[in-house]
Amino acid sequence: MIAIHPPEATKLVPSNAPEHCPGTESEQAGKADACAGCPNQEICATAPKGPDPAITHVTTRMSSVRRKILVLSGKGGVGKSTFTAQLGWALSADPDVQAGIMDIDICGPSMPTMLGIQRETVHASGAGWSPISVTDNLCAISVGCMLASPADAVMWRGPRKNGLVAQFLKDVDWGALDYLLVDTPPGTSDEHLSVVNLLKEAGIDGAVLLTTPQEVALQDVRREIDFCRKVGVRMLGIVENMAGFVCPSCKGESVIFKPTTGGAERLAKETGIELLGRVPLDPRIGKCADYGENFLDEFPDSPASKAFVQIIDRIKQLVDEQ
Ligand code: SF4
Repeated sequence: MIAIHPPEATKLVPSNAPEHCPGTESEQAGKADACAGCPNQEICATAPKGPDPAITHVTTRMSSVRRKILVLSGKGGVGKSTFTAQLGWALSADPDVQAGIMDIDICGPSMPTMLGIQRETVHASGAGWSPISVTDNLCAISVGCMLASPADAVMWRGPRKNGLVAQFLKDVDWGALDYLLVDTPPGTSDEHLSVVNLLKEAGIDGAVLLTTPQEVALQDVRREIDFCRKVGVRMLGIVENMAGFVCPSCKGESVIFKPTTGGAERLAKETGIELLGRVPLDPRIGKCADYGENFLDEFPDSPASKAFVQIIDRIKQLVDEQ
């Protein structure tokens, strides 16, 4: 499994750290010359050193999960959670496959609505927290299913968010899963560092990067690429979402978000990362997300469905060939 622990990748470096950061787990963390002036210096100097004991628990729990895939986006609103939901539905279309979705967007959990499980609550048993069943072979966990009301705001600082990510990884009783999809919040923040750190022994099979065609979204994807390179996560490829609009009635195509700087295609060429595909806008995707419906099942003839299916097949091929 190509993952996150080649030698140079064991060094955990926050996205806001200076260039010569010794790594937050190093004995030198917070004390090295490079740490002078770093915004994390106080935390790094006082935090316990050495590997997090939670990693052992996570590794044990994840031993029954065959493939772990991160879904990342630099910017919010590019359709990352929608894509994760479609990926989950598509993988579980095979009745022999067990798939799970872990929503670690703690402050903006949208997965319960997109999967139609917003009225469900997470239950605990002797084996751990039980993920919520979406179908017979698709389950999910989200902080959105742990709130008293869907309108409740989660106003947590980093350590509490990290704690919940750790609980999702070590306390959820997934059972035997073929694929676990981790839906992350936009950016490169606490949740990303936690999930990468805690899964470093269990292994991450790869990350899918979502963007839209505009330069403002691509700039943030470049940061996401930098994050993946720094922490040693393999990038499976880039998906360009909202790439044109195909009218469901007349089938005419128009460009809504112009790829002024060449879009994801140019970014893929510049960075050497595969462009997995381009998904056109279809207003029915939003409707399905709002109603927790499977868009691929509802509208299999949509150009967006065809693009989703091709991209998802390629992702399966990439992770399964490892
Ligand atoms: S203070 Fe922490 S994050 Fe900043 S450079 Fe030092 S080890 Fe890295």
